[in-house]
Amino acid sequence: MVLNEIQVHCPTCDKIVSWHKGRSPYRPFCSERCRLIDLGEWASGEKYIPSQEKVSESDEDQR
Ligand SMILES: [Zn+2]
Repeated sequence: MVLNEIQVHCPTCDKIVSWHKGRSPYRPFCSERCRLIDLGEWASGEKYIPSQEKVSESDEDQR
């Protein structure tokens, strides 16, 4: 085990990334691909889950 070695999890794929200057230029992501994926999700709003799905509550009201 090496001290001074900070590791984080890639927010996209949960892979362990070494938080080291120069070694992981895309930190906290493991790669440029994961970074772009994360940015892309934000841009397209996929991280917002629309909760417009109406649960059939009316069934319980009519009881
Ligand atoms: Zn990743």
